Amino acid sequence: MIQTLGYAAMDPKSPLRPFRFERRAVGADDVRIEILYCGVCHSDLHTVRNEWNNTLFPSVPGHEIVGRVAEVGKGVKRFKVDDVVGVGCMVDSCLHCPSCAEGLEQYCEHGFTGTYNGPVYGGENTYGGYSQTIVVKEHFVLRMPSQTNLAACAPLLCAGITTFSPLRHWGVTAGHKVGVVGLGGLGHMAIKLAAAMGAHVVLFSRSPGKKEDALRLGAREMVLSTDPDAMARHANSFNFILDTVAAPHKLDDYLNLLKRDGTMTLVGAPDHPHPSPEVFNLIFKRRTLAGSLIGGIPETQEMLDFCAKHNIACDIELIPIQSINEAYERMLRSDVRYRFVIDMQSLRQEAPEV
Ligand code: NAP
Ligand code: ZN
Repeated sequence: MIQTLGYAAMDPKSPLRPFRFERRAVGADDVRIEILYCGVCHSDLHTVRNEWNNTLFPSVPGHEIVGRVAEVGKGVKRFKVDDVVGVGCMVDSCLHCPSCAEGLEQYCEHGFTGTYNGPVYGGENTYGGYSQTIVVKEHFVLRMPSQTNLAACAPLLCAGITTFSPLRHWGVTAGHKVGVVGLGGLGHMAIKLAAAMGAHVVLFSRSPGKKEDALRLGAREMVLSTDPDAMARHANSFNFILDTVAAPHKLDDYLNLLKRDGTMTLVGAPDHPHPSPEVFNLIFKRRTLAGSLIGGIPETQEMLDFCAKHNIACDIELIPIQSINEAYERMLRSDVRYRFVIDMQSLRQEAPEV
């Protein structure tokens, strides 16, 4: 076993604090990674506060991990010591069901194991990337293409793939009009990626102060979602809308903006359901309301390579782990431009000897 140090929530109400635990010894097909950076996803916050009613405590969040390979098992073929690698939201799945066979491990018919809070379907708890080291099966380790700013690439492992996968699946391409709802971690990646795919991107936000950023990130327009006239001007015009909002809201406001046969895909995962949409808003224009979960391992590698090719990384604020509780509060106030990333060097202050 390997001793490590991380930050954990011990219950839904207490702030995260230092927590020592053990990683498994490196098996034949395992890679041990010294974590350099870990992004802070809104799912971390939902989890540590038990907003989805499925949290196992202690909870060590973090599924946007970039690190350096420190050790590899005998059977590992694709990685060697010192390689820079990434780990996203999954660390295991059955690898033989029809979804896994298609490289869609996130839809594993037996349930994938999450990087943290993993054994929703039984087994031991898993601890995520707010920690010094992690041991991961080779299949779930990603190659990080050479990028200068590694910290800014960490959030690609969740925010990047969660927005890339639906944009690809629903065939977003040059000339499409694409809406992005909410400008946070996922939203800012959705704008960059859809713009790189050639789409005409429109941001919907409640925050008037985000207009300049939206345009800089690649959106052509920003619409204040609280202004009904501004919304109405876009009625029946979108091919695709990606909704990243982390709280329940009225979906009809956006469904009405889709053209005939358009699709709106939900990736935001609020703690309470959205009000049910009006069925006539769907049937009269044959519109589709859909959902999407992260992305498979092959597609995650494709996304990392796409981002390297298009010079896309995340806009981040680098924080020491000691600021994580304050970062959560700021995230709840939509006061993050546009992803917090933890510099794991800061853990050394907690335990210089480890
Ligand atoms: P985030 O950085 O907090 O961004 C969410 C954005 O939603 C905010 O910046 C804000 O944008 C908007 N928003 C927040 N509260 C709102 C409210 N009450 N009403 C309307 N808009 C609100 O969060 P994130 O990390 O991007 O994650 C977004 C959601 O996706 C979370 O629920 C997360 O758990 C989920 N998620 C899902 C997957 C998946 O696989 N499907 C993967 C990762 C995360 P504006 O200020 O622009 O309005
Ligand atoms: Zn996430």
